Amino acid sequence: MSLTNIETFVRPETVEEAFAALGEHARPISGGTDVMLRNPTAATTLVDLMGLPLGEITESPGGGFTVGANATLTAMADHPGLAGHLGGILPEMLVHVGSPLLRNQCTLGGHLARGRLSDVVPVLVALDAEITWFDGEHHAAPIARFYEDGTHRGRLIVTGVEIPAATGTSAGAFHKFLRTFFDLALLNAACVLWASGDGTLDAARVVVGETPSLGVRVTAAEDALAGVAPGPEAFAAAGAIARAEVETRADSRASAEYRSQLVGVAVERCLAKAAARLEVSS
Ligand SMILES: Cc1cc2nc3c(=O)[nH]c(=O)nc-3n(C[C@H](O)[C@H](O)[C@H](O)COP(=O)(O)OP(=O)(O)OC[C@H]3O[C@@H](n4cnc5c(N)ncnc54)[C@H](O)[C@@H]3O)c2cc1C
Repeated sequence: MSLTNIETFVRPETVEEAFAALGEHARPISGGTDVMLRNPTAATTLVDLMGLPLGEITESPGGGFTVGANATLTAMADHPGLAGHLGGILPEMLVHVGSPLLRNQCTLGGHLARGRLSDVVPVLVALDAEITWFDGEHHAAPIARFYEDGTHRGRLIVTGVEIPAATGTSAGAFHKFLRTFFDLALLNAACVLWASGDGTLDAARVVVGETPSLGVRVTAAEDALAGVAPGPEAFAAAGAIARAEVETRADSRASAEYRSQLVGVAVERCLAKAAARLEVSS
């Protein structure tokens, strides 16, 4: 690790000033956990975003949440409203991001801006969250589209995330396959289930991450779950659909074939956890 190329460190106080300070040789830094490991060698200036007023997590009267980009992952996991949202899907995921020390330091904005290897993105996709950013103008878009369109590669400042209020009788869950407790995911999955009043499911969100995509919705599995009774048979069928639909990748940690096996199991287990929370909350 070396930042000997850095000559200037600026700490703006507004998003506009911070954006104006960015450039070919000036990169943002928030928690710094990624920047310190992957030193942007072309940069001679670091623009410290932690002076911006983006640290708040607020709950709207309707039950939605605005999470500022500078909120740490620990602050998110500890927030009482977020902790209870959809049966606890957020802290369930956050406790699996690296170690407590990492979560104390790294920010939501830095995590989302880096656009790689994420436990957070699949959950935010399942929650129908929107990401907000500034690139001379303020923007908001569904989080999956932000990555699909390659927006994250542009010059911008991530300002936060909007998480909509829970609707109906609903619960979510997250499942991660990893080699050791503090490890990046081999594969992960997030889901949300909505119960109808007659013992069947109204709707489902099924998302698989750590594939070539950061978090891909499996709409065929979602469609298969709508209108059926929740249970092992329905969840195994949804897992099999996901396994057939989701493209997987190989790297030094696992083969594509192994990851493909994990897709079905992750989806099945994730759905079972969400269904158990639905029963508890109904
Ligand atoms: C040891 C270790 C283990 C990890 N384990 C996991 C894991 O299990 N699961 C997981 O999901 N992740 C894991 N991570 C990744 C971790 O979540 C990220 O490193 C962290 O979230 C980055 O946040 P940061 O605030 O430190 O970002 P920084 O390091 O400050 O920045 C990251 C990138 O985003 C840019 N940037 C920062 N803030 C903004 C902003 N607001 N707008 C635009 N650009 C910005 C920076 O220029 C840089 O390119 C791990 C990382 C480490 C180092």
